[in-house]
This record gives sequence, C-alpha cells and structure tokens, in this order.
Amino acid sequence: MNKLDEQRQKEIQQAEELLFAGPQALGFAKGLFQGHFVSDWVMPYPRIPEAQQGELDQVLTELRKFLNADLDPAEIDRQADIPRSVIDGLGRVGVLGLTAPKEYGGHGFSQMANCKVLEEIGRRCASTSVFVNAHHSIGIRALLLFGTHEQKQKWLPKLVTGEQLGAFALTEREAGSDAANVQMQARPSEDGSHFILNGEKRYITNAAIAHELTVMARTPVPGSDKTAVTAFLVTPDMPGFEMLEARMPKTGIKGTATGRFALRDVKVPKENVLGPIGKGLKVALTVLDFGRTTFGACCTGAAKTCLELAIAHANTRRQFNKTLGEFELVKKKIARIAADAYAMEAMTTVTAAFIDRGLEDYMLETAMLKVFTTERLWECINDVFQIYGGSAYFTDLPLERMLRDARINQIGEGANEVLTSFIALVGMRGPGMEFKEIYDTMMKPSRDGMSKAWAAGKNRLSATVLVPDVPVQSEQLRAQARQLGRLIRHFNFAVNRALITYREPILDMQLVQERIANAAMDLFASTCVLSRIDGEIQFAGRNGNSVSPDHSAADLFLHQSFRRIRGFLAGLTDNDDKAVIAAAKSCLTSHTAEAAE
Ligand SMILES: Cc1cc2nc3c(=O)[nH]c(=O)nc-3n(C[C@H](O)[C@H](O)[C@H](O)COP(=O)(O)OP(=O)(O)OC[C@H]3O[C@@H](n4cnc5c(N)ncnc54)[C@H](O)[C@@H]3O)c2cc1C
Repeated sequence: MNKLDEQRQKEIQQAEELLFAGPQALGFAKGLFQGHFVSDWVMPYPRIPEAQQGELDQVLTELRKFLNADLDPAEIDRQADIPRSVIDGLGRVGVLGLTAPKEYGGHGFSQMANCKVLEEIGRRCASTSVFVNAHHSIGIRALLLFGTHEQKQKWLPKLVTGEQLGAFALTEREAGSDAANVQMQARPSEDGSHFILNGEKRYITNAAIAHELTVMARTPVPGSDKTAVTAFLVTPDMPGFEMLEARMPKTGIKGTATGRFALRDVKVPKENVLGPIGKGLKVALTVLDFGRTTFGACCTGAAKTCLELAIAHANTRRQFNKTLGEFELVKKKIARIAADAYAMEAMTTVTAAFIDRGLEDYMLETAMLKVFTTERLWECINDVFQIYGGSAYFTDLPLERMLRDARINQIGEGANEVLTSFIALVGMRGPGMEFKEIYDTMMKPSRDGMSKAWAAGKNRLSATVLVPDVPVQSEQLRAQARQLGRLIRHFNFAVNRALITYREPILDMQLVQERIANAAMDLFASTCVLSRIDGEIQFAGRNGNSVSPDHSAADLFLHQSFRRIRGFLAGLTDNDDKAVIAAAKSCLTSHTAEAAE
C-alpha cells in the first residue's frame, strides 16, 4: 500500500468509526441523496411548545432589557474585552446555562428555544454571541452530553450561572481542519489514578478566562501501539497549565479572548475523563453539532440587523433626487437580504428541532446550516455595506465592525470547504454503497449477492423515476412543492450519474463535490422555507386571519434557490474544472520552482 492509500484507509476508518455507529433512522439530508423526501422531520414546521414559549418570552424580555441598557458592542470592540458586568448580567438572565437541566441550575431549554435567545444576541454583538457559544454551545456541552451525574453535580452549578466559564479546546498547530490529527498526549499514570497531559492548544476562545476547559488529547489504545482521542476536563489551576498568550490580537470578534496554552505534565484525575476513553473525536463532533446550530441562530440575528440597517438607509439617503430605495440595484440587495434572513431562520429552527426531537444523526444538516448561513451572512453584510457607500467604511457606524466580525464564521468550527466536501461525501455514501453492491455482484455473481443487488438496483431506479411527494398543507404552495419534488429527483439523478461516471476518484474531486453539496444545501434550505411558509399560512388560518401573511421575501428565496440548484446541477456537466485545475497546478508548481531557485 502506498502512502496515499494508507492515508485514505486511515481517513475512511476514522470516518466509519465516527459517523456510522449502527443502524439509524434515515435523516432528511441523507434521504435527499437517495431521492427521498423524509417529510416527518421537516413538516409541519416545528413550533416551541406553549409551556416553554412563556418561559422563553420571559427570558427574551429580560435579555432585551439588559442588552439595551448594558451592552455596548462598539466599546467591546474598542476595548477588545467583554466587561465582567456583561458576563454577570448574561448569567443572571440565565443565558449561560439555558439548555442545562433544571436540577443543575439551568433552564432546561430546548435547542430551538436556545437558538431564539442566541439570535437576539447575534443581532447586536458578535463578540458576545461567540463568547456565549464558546461557553455554552461548545465549552460545557461535552459535560452536558457525556458527563456522569457526579461530574455534572460537581461542575455545572457554577458554570450555568457564569460564576465559572467554560472553553472547548480541540485546535492545535497540526490539528486545524484536520481535527483528528490531535498531537496532545495523555499518558495514563502507573497506578491508573490519573492521566499526564502534554502538548499545546491554540486559537481557543475563552481559554484565558475559563475555569473549565474541555481538552482533546491522545490516549493509548490498550493492547495495541495505536492511540485515540479522549476528552478531558482540565482546570487552569492544575500545576503545569501554562497560558502562553491570553488574547491573541485579531481582526474581528475582538471582545473574545482567543488564546494559546500549554499543558506540561499536567496530572488530570481519571474522574475528569468526559465520555468513553478513545471516543473523544465522536465527543468533539457531537459538541460541534450543537455549536453549528447556534452559529446559524447568531447569523440569522446578524442578517436581520443587516436588513434593518439597509431599509433605514435606503429610505432616507437621497441621491439623484431619489431615495436609494428607488433604485433597482438597491432594491435587489434589500430583497436578497430579506429572502436570506427568512431562510436562515427557517433552517436554524428546523435543524434545532432535529436535535430536540431526538434524530440520531444530524451531522449533515448542522454542517449544511453552518456553511449556508455563514456564506449568506457574508453576502448580506457585503450588500448592506455597499448600500451605505463611503459611510460604511467609518467606525461611527457598526458596519465595518460587522464585516470584520463576520469573517471568522466561514473558518471557525470547521472551515466551509472542509464541511462542503464532508456534506457531499457523507451524503453520497448511501447511494454509493448501493452501486457498489450492484457492481460487486456483477463482477462476482452469487445468490445472496444477486438479491441484495436487485434490491439496491430497484431502489436506485425507483428514486430516479419517482418524483417524491412534498406534502404541504396550503393549496397555494402546491406548485412550489411539486417543483421542489422534481428538483430532488433531478438531484438524485445527478448524484447517481456522478457516482457512475467518476467512481472512486470522486473522493478527491472537490469541484464536483462542491456542486453536489451546494445543490443539497439549497434543497434543504428551500424545504425549510416551504415548511415555514406553510406553517405560517396554516397558523394564520387557525387564528381566523383571512389575509395571508406577506411572503414575498420567502417566495423570492424559493425562486432564487431553485434557480441556483438547476445551475449547480448543470455545472456538473458544463464547467471549466479542467482549466481551473490546470491553472492552479501551473501557479503552484511554478511558485515552488521559483522558490527552489
Ligand atoms: C477567532 C477564532 C476562534 C476560535 N475558537 C476556537 C475554539 O474555541 N476552540 C477550538 O478548538 N478551535 C477554535 N478555533 C480554531 C478554528 O476552529 C480553526 O481555525 C479552523 O478549524 C481551521 O483550522 P486552521 O486555522 O488550522 O486552518 P487550516 O486547517 O490550516 O486550513 C486553512 C484553509 O485551508 C482550506 N482547507 C483546509 N483543509 C481543506 C480540505 N480538506 N479541503 C479543502 N480546503 C481545505 C480551508 O479554506 C481552510 O480555511 C478558533 C479560530 C479562530 C480564528
């Protein structure tokens, strides 16, 4: 086996271990890749149960009052610090432990309710929302999900009030996008009472202000020379914990403390292991699923701010004796921001509901949400920036800060390129395995193989012939639902064709993967939008409103999303990929040659 094959085998083994734990219900996104519309997960549009809605409204009212009075995002940016008074206030309102069970002092909120709160913070200050996410969405998440009762009892009460803070430490110099390449070592002590941790972590939000850090380190796999990642609960008062840089100066979200630290022979008691030994990557990825959902909520909040700012300026600034809003090229931007903000909220709500309703595997959907909302928000900010012209460039308006703050979103918690490739590859795995079944049987016919191949062939064939039903309740949405069904069939056909055409090399063809992932993301986004419109029409009807709510922005989203899907799928056969690869290769090799001279 050559080195490349070895690396591929290692990656496949890791992915198998992480993603395919056993038989699970077919999720929505995986269903799309098989030509199905798994409607139960997305329709009807999820609503927060009435009992929790009252509590949520109360938290939101208190939160708004506090943020209006005490949060100054421009000052946080200037001082590159979130004042302790703000952290204490968020703790008082309950934001720092919203999803923690009540028995540990939390609010016991669902992920959907939590997202509504994060959206509110994301509307105002990205530093603060990233701080809350680092603490609550990922910092204490492993403890919430994988901690034992004793661990929760010991640590959670102070963490959910904000008296103590949490952080999540995965990234290292050699383990950025390649998260599985963690180098930090955790050696068990001879008496088995503790582990000895050595290594460095970098780019860790809250590292310097946290009292409890979830740290990923490598432990030996008993009976072999291999190692696997394990999650540990580390506190900065442990001897050997060294803060190398408390606040690395940076472009945006300046209020957050992003740091580097080293662990040098730090003794961590075995009672501080979170989750099963050797399953730290699974722990980390599950934690990040939650982080990516609140990412979507924060981006939704920021997109709504973009819309408000854009409308305010377009209605008041006059040029050529007209308001800016009278120009079509400004209208176009405002309409697009409104459409995207509607979709981002819908997608966040549906994804959060997957978690709340106990879907076992929602990794694809959270990855889609993260990539989609962060890319759309970047466009929204760019659009509103343009509408404000020169004034956007100056620091008296929030736009230049919003621009700087938003740039991390496409990089953090999984760079969008990595997640895009992941979406395509994990999604295509189901149909790919069916094709493999057929291929293997054709090469080596057997009775058992024939029946499996027959079933797989029938599945593939029926998915390419049948248009899946998209069961909306509102009559006026039937045409769009049918269009979505036809696009899913078209998508499935395109996925099958790509798998048959490229076979195993598709694993490295990221330009093909990107189109497939983009189409899948837009199919998911359109589904969430359609479900949301349907829910709103039905809700208005039940409440006796004869006038249907205004859905012009949502309608625009569907038009644009359907057009994008057709474009991505057409690009699979009509593209400049060869020229792109050739030009990049030429640049990369000529630069290497120049450097060698
Ligand atoms: C402000 C900030 C806060 C952070 N907070 C935390 C935290 O709290 N906890 C934590 O553990 N980490 C944190 N991180 C780290 C963050 O998650 C990583 O920066 C991110 O995962 C990318 O890793 P990297 O920076 O090493 O980039 P690299 O892995 O070097 O990647 C650089 C670029 O290469 C491209 N790329 C990489 N791999 C591929 C691929 N397979 N296919 C195509 N393109 C690829 C992508 O465009 C990517 O952006 C934070 C980072 C920042 C900047």
